[in-house]
Formats: sequence, structure tokens, C-alpha cells
Amino acid sequence: MEILQDVKTRVYKFGNKVADGNSKMKNLLGGKGANLAEMSAIGIPVPPGFTITTEVCTEYNLLGKDTVVDMIKPEVEAAIFNIETLMGSKFGDKDNPLLVSVRSGARVSMPGMMDTVLNLGLNDDVVIGLAEKTGNERFAWDSYRRFIQMYGDVVLGMKPESKIDIDPFEEIMEHLKEKRNINLDTEFSTQDLKDLVYDFKAAVKRRTKQEFPTNPWDQLWGAVVAVFNSWNGDRAVYYRNMHGYPADWGTAVNVQAMVYGNMGLNSGTGVCFTRDAGTGEDVFNGEYLINAQGEDVVAGTRTPQQITKLGSLRWAELARVEEEDRALNYPSLEELMPKIFKELNTYQEKLENHYKDMQDMEFTMQDGKLWILQTRNGKRTGAAMVKIAIDMLKEGIIDEKQALLRIEPNKLDELLHPVFDPKALKTAHVIAQGLPASPGAATGQIVFFADEANKYKYTILTRIETSPEDLEGMNIAKGILTARGGMTSHAAVVARGMGKCCVSGAGGIKINYKTRTLIADGKEYHEGDWISLNGSTGNIIEGKVATIEPELSGEFAEIMKLSDKYRTMGVRTNADSPKDAKVARRFGAQGIGLTRTEHMFFEVDRIKAMREMILADTVKGRKHALDLLLPMQREDFEGIFEAMEGLPVTVRLLDPPLHEFVPHQLETQRSLAEEMHISIEAIKSKVIELEEFNPMLGHRGCRLGISYPEITEMQARAIIEAALNLKAKGIDARPEIMVPLVSTLEEFLNQEAIIRETASKVFEERNDTIDYLVGTMIEIPRAALMAHLIAEKADFFSYGTNDLTQMAFGLSRDDAGKFLPLYIEKGILKADPFEVLDQEGVGQLVQMGTEKGRKVKPNLKVGICGEHGGEPSSVEFCFKTGLNYVSCSPYRVPIARIAAAQAAIKAAL
Ligand code: PEP
Ligand code: MG
Repeated sequence: MEILQDVKTRVYKFGNKVADGNSKMKNLLGGKGANLAEMSAIGIPVPPGFTITTEVCTEYNLLGKDTVVDMIKPEVEAAIFNIETLMGSKFGDKDNPLLVSVRSGARVSMPGMMDTVLNLGLNDDVVIGLAEKTGNERFAWDSYRRFIQMYGDVVLGMKPESKIDIDPFEEIMEHLKEKRNINLDTEFSTQDLKDLVYDFKAAVKRRTKQEFPTNPWDQLWGAVVAVFNSWNGDRAVYYRNMHGYPADWGTAVNVQAMVYGNMGLNSGTGVCFTRDAGTGEDVFNGEYLINAQGEDVVAGTRTPQQITKLGSLRWAELARVEEEDRALNYPSLEELMPKIFKELNTYQEKLENHYKDMQDMEFTMQDGKLWILQTRNGKRTGAAMVKIAIDMLKEGIIDEKQALLRIEPNKLDELLHPVFDPKALKTAHVIAQGLPASPGAATGQIVFFADEANKYKYTILTRIETSPEDLEGMNIAKGILTARGGMTSHAAVVARGMGKCCVSGAGGIKINYKTRTLIADGKEYHEGDWISLNGSTGNIIEGKVATIEPELSGEFAEIMKLSDKYRTMGVRTNADSPKDAKVARRFGAQGIGLTRTEHMFFEVDRIKAMREMILADTVKGRKHALDLLLPMQREDFEGIFEAMEGLPVTVRLLDPPLHEFVPHQLETQRSLAEEMHISIEAIKSKVIELEEFNPMLGHRGCRLGISYPEITEMQARAIIEAALNLKAKGIDARPEIMVPLVSTLEEFLNQEAIIRETASKVFEERNDTIDYLVGTMIEIPRAALMAHLIAEKADFFSYGTNDLTQMAFGLSRDDAGKFLPLYIEKGILKADPFEVLDQEGVGQLVQMGTEKGRKVKPNLKVGICGEHGGEPSSVEFCFKTGLNYVSCSPYRVPIARIAAAQAAIKAAL
């Protein structure tokens, strides 16, 4: 009988203008692997190598190391043989050695989140062969000590033991530097490097109780497994959770022939971008270092030089470096190595045109030969994202739909935040200058350690340099300041990806972690002192700086206009005040989908009348208090209707349980008793009477209006009178009155009758009318089930997906925060269902309610006003379900507009 073979390919080769994979295979090969394959196939010089697929990572997590190594061994051996053939060298051979790099690569780029090992394949014999082959003994030993250092860190877990300790290998190097009285790594002699290798290996033995592995194949498997493990490392898990990437994606492993940027003065390494990742400007830019390996550029330990002359001149101006000094000591690649620059420039153009997007590339020059190590769509700020999309559209590289699909809706948020007031900047005291690594305006209190980023409400994380371990703190801080590192340092790249303000490479400041101080401009600043960062100029400013609302013109306005061309679903806003309504209208809201009237009752003069109403024991007493509230409500509605002139405004009747309005503290109860001339006991007993075990499922929503019809009556009157008052002034108000928390048709009918009777009364009194609608929220699962009945009577539906989620999951909105993070960490839920609509479950209720409702009333207007109305994936779901509009908070309106346009474009693809 024939045995079925597992024929799945697990290892994909590339190199010498051919490749097994291509750029479309990102899910399987990871972004890096897919792009290496693609680059190789289109003739870009990439060092040959192979990619172990992301599926193997998942298999590794299920089956463990031994099974997986056995499974892929023949393929890996064949792939190494392929590299050997192309490079004309041999893995583990001491006379003609092949060394490789081992890197992670998930389907999306996760900069610095997972691990890399370079120079793999070295041991005490091979290092001698490498020295002879290259004729450069110092280089060979430098590569060897770097390898032990990286392998020790990544594979053998040789990390600093506490946050104030430095890396154990760095510590050994520092000791040697002191002993030899030198400052720089480049000043180590060959003998020093040999001593370091010896000391490093001894340190490994001491800490791990094992010899450093000498067999290159053992080294290779160790590194492959370490990369797989790094997918589940703390940093990667945090990054994944932050971006909502599922744990089952896994990472691929890329193994490639090593090429060397540290072989002398004719070698080097760099990172470059085809456009400016901070501003979006169409200029080729980047940084390089001569005689260095890749990690040196991003680690920020040496200040790199600029690739183009233009970039170099701009840098010199910011760094206050005189032209003579610049040209001599910091020349651009364009000036120093014009031939290589020209070649690199050709490749950057070719790659941007090929991928039709801004590329972030890494390259190495080995003894005058240029190799491209990596390309990927570059991370960028929100501003750069919008500018690049619009520019590429105008340049004819992409079309309108593609330009819109390039927008990550949530990143627009960055553009809506306040910027420094130019007037305040004129008098600001600039204490130092760094590089404008990631634009934005940040003001906060200085902290020096990432794990203390939440020590104050607003912090500026101030570091000599950042590393991937600092990610969580960087995310929490308002801004990031580093003393070292260039525009492509870890801090700069990560901050741009997060859209966080960052000033890097501020060489003029001195940071002391031990004393928690920062010296700038001759003055000492301490932890907790306030500073401000201008991420667009690189200025570091003493104290706080005032901010103003940003301009919403230029490319932002263009992309928003374009979104309206393709969008078919409406976007409204949730707003409770004329101010919010105006902001939302400026952002393009087409009406209000939810005004929560209760928010108005919390203001000082109103809460008094509200409490009087609640404390009243008779209808008469309640009416008296409501009569006081009526003019205030009417005025509120006039303001909101006026701000939304000509657009629909959905006003919801009182919703929260009444106990939210009464005082719970003795002190406040006492003063209320005095004010209202009643006994404190009366208040206390009312508070007790209103207490509920499950207030969210208690006496709230339409249940209040049913118990106290006079509340509904007052609110309906305030709405209708406000609209009529505006009409008299020639202002077009379009109220839509919404009944909350309905679960039966009868509840709706009860409230509808009160509203319509009140409206008729007001029309008669005023001898005038206006059009208005009476609809309902669908936020209790039963309402979705009974939608066919409710729709017969309701003018519209609006999904309250906050309550709908709460009740469908049986998860309290107020308490779930305590354990939901654990659910996400454990992968039980992919995202917080109160943020991202659970399309599978809760979504069914939305779909069913809409279908049932439209069966009896085909033109039934349906919207959503839960928090999900401004979340891009939920907006797409609403579009697919056929909703007429989504409604979200004012600052989310632009996000929802883009998301709705993208949904329409995707649906038509
Ligand atoms: C909802 O439940 O989704 C809703 C919008 O109402 P609230 O959040 O006020 O309960
Ligand atoms: Mg609700």
C-alpha cells in the first residue's frame, strides 16, 4: 500500500534572480521572506537564502523542537547547500566558511519585536579560516565576538539581570575599555577582540552552566528555535495585543548568507526610505555608517551619517554642525561613495515603483559591492500616510480607490490632535535640539525608565537610547526623547509607527539614570520636571507649552473629500452639547445619531432640579421639578439643533438609573437636605430605595418613562418646542426622538403615545407644526428578535451596541474591564467586544434585527450609536449589513468616513 507523503513545502529558497516564493505569500513567508523572494526575482541583489514558513512556527508550538527539526531537516540542508553553491563557500568549513544570518519575519512588520542572530557558523576554527579568507584578522574576530554576544543574548538568554544593570557582554567590554584606556569599540585591537571572545564564552559558561555551542548546525537549530520562541516573548505578545494580531499567525525564519558592512572603510551599512516617513515629503532619505553592521544603525550607539547630500545639509543645520566639519567628518553617501549611491538610488526607485508604496530598505556595502537586505512598506506617521497617498495619486502611481485604501483610519486620529500654539512657541525656552524623529507636540513630566512611564499622568520618556524592551513605556508616554540615535534609530522608527512625538539624537543633553537627572543648556532637570517636545522641529523646551486645534486643510481635506465620493453610508456623531456638535460638523458629521440627554442633567443648576424630581413622592412634586428643568432642556436642544441646522438630530429620552443622580456621600446628602428643607433620613431612605443589585438591568431606559410618564412628557415638549422656536427664526431643525432600552413592542407603544400626544398638544398651543420621527434603540437582544413587530410602529432603529454587547455576552460593561484583558491575553477573545463589534455573535443580532425590520418596513432607517460606530472593522460590518449610517464621537467622524469609503470600495472589488 502506498503511504501518503506530506508534500507540503516548508522551506522556500531565493537568490541569484530566482525564488520559490513571491511578495503575495506574506502570510506563509512573513513580510520579510516574501519581499526577499520578490526582490530576488526582479533582479535586486539580495544575499541568497531561504525562509522557513510561518506554518512551521505553528507546528513548532504544537509539536515541539525535535519533531519539527526532523521534519524540516532535509529541506533546510538542501537550502543551505543552495546558498553554498551560489556563494562558493561552505557552512562550517574552516578554510572557506559560509556564515549566515537568522532573522524573524511575521506577516506584518513588528520592528525590533523579535530576534536576530548574525554571523552564525563561527567557532574557534572557522574564525581562523575567515581571517585568512578575508585577509582581515581583526574583522574575523570582531564578527566572532558579535556573534557570541547576539547568540548569547537571543538564544542563551544572557540579558541584563535588572533594569539598572547593563548588558553582561557590554559590561565585559566596558571593563576592557577602562583597562586599555580607550573609548570606542573600533579602538579594540585584534588581541582585545580575542580576549573578549574568551571572556564572553566564560561568561556564558558561568551563567548557563554550558559551553558555547561550537557545531554550526547546532548553532543554526538553536537560532531557528529561538526565533520561533520570540514570537511568544513578552515584547512580541505586547506588540501583537496592541495591534490585535492573533497568536496563531506565527513568525517565519529567514536564513541568509552573511554579507559584511564591517570589513573596513570600503564597507558599511544603512537604512533608507524612499520618502520621508515623518512628513511624507517625496525625498529619498536615510542613514548609514561606514565599517559597521546593521544593528549599529538602529541601536543608536553611533550617530549615523545621511545618505543624500540634501539630507546631510538639513541634518547639519539641526545638529548645528558647520559645513566644513560636516563635509569632512559627516559626508553623505552621495558625496563619499557616489557610485554606490547611484546604484542604491536606482534600486530605491525601482522598488518604490514595483511596490507602488513608500519603501523602508536596509542595505550593506561589502568591500564596494552593494547588497539589499530588506525592503518593506515603510511605517509612517498619520500625516505622512495621508500626504504619500495623495501625492502618489497625483503622480499617477495609484488610483483614487487605492489612495483611500492606503489610509489606516485609526491613524487619522494623530492629525486631529492639538499642536503647539505658534504664539506660545515664540516665547518658549528651547533647552536643547535633537532630530525631528516623529512629528507632534508633547508636554509631560520627565521619566527615565520605560516601566515608570505611568508614574505621572503625562510623561516624556527620556532615554540615552531605547530598545525593544521599552515598547510598553513608549506607548504610554506622551513623547519620547533620546540622547543618541538618528532618524532610523529604534526610538524614531517605533515612535513613527505609533504616531507618537519623538525627538532623537539630542547630543547636547546628558542623562544620568542613577541620579535620575538630565542636564541641558547647563541646567539640571529632575525626574518629574515638565518639558515639551516639538517632534516637527526637534526642539526640546522647558516647561509646558500651550496648544491649539490643528488645521484640517491640505491633503487631509483632499482625502476626506475623496472618501465622500466613494462612501454610500452616512456618518453621524454622538454629541450632547452644541460645542461637540460643531466640532463634529467641522469633521464632516451628517447629523447626530445620539444625544444622551442625561448628561445635561449633571450640570450644577440642573442636578438640583433633577434631585428634587427624584425625591418627590407625588406626581405634583415631580411635575414641579420638571417644570424647572423644561426651559433648560429646551435651551439645550435649541443650541444643538442650531449647530446641526438642516441635519437630523436623534435625541434619546432619559436612560440611566435614577440612583446615578442622587448623592451617596453623607456630606453631600447633608447639604442637599438643608437646601431642600427635608430630613437627611428622607434622602438616605430614597437612596436605599433606589439601590439595585444589577442597575444595568434595572430601572432604567424606557422603564423610567413608563413609571414616570411626566419625564417623557417634559422631554418631548422640550424637543418639540425647541424645534418650533428655531423654525420661527428660520432655522431648520429635524428632531428624531428615540426611546431607549425597549424589549417589547408594548413598551415602545406606551412611550410613543406620550411623545405624539405631547407633540400634538404643543402644535395646537403654538398653532404650528414641524416634522419629527419617533424611533427606538435596539440594544436588548429581545428587541432584535422582535424587530418585525417593533418596526411596524417605529420610524427608525438605532443599535445601541454597548448594551447589546453587554447583554448578548452577559458581560457587565462596568466590571468586565477587570478580566477582559486576561481573556485577550489567553486568546479566548481576539479583541475587547466593547471596542470591536463581535461580528460573529452580536453581529447576528444586528443583522437579524435589520432584516426583520426591513421585511415589514423596507425603507426603515437603521443606524448604530454604540461605541463601535467609530471603529473601522465594525463600520465595515455596518456597511455590509446595509445600515443607513454609523454614529460616533466627534473625533472619530473622519475615521468613520474613511472606513465607510473603504468598505464600499472593498465590496465592489
Ligand atoms: C448603547 O448601549 O450602545 C448606547 C449607545 O447607549 P449607552 O451607551 O448610553 O447605554
Ligand atoms: Mg444603551
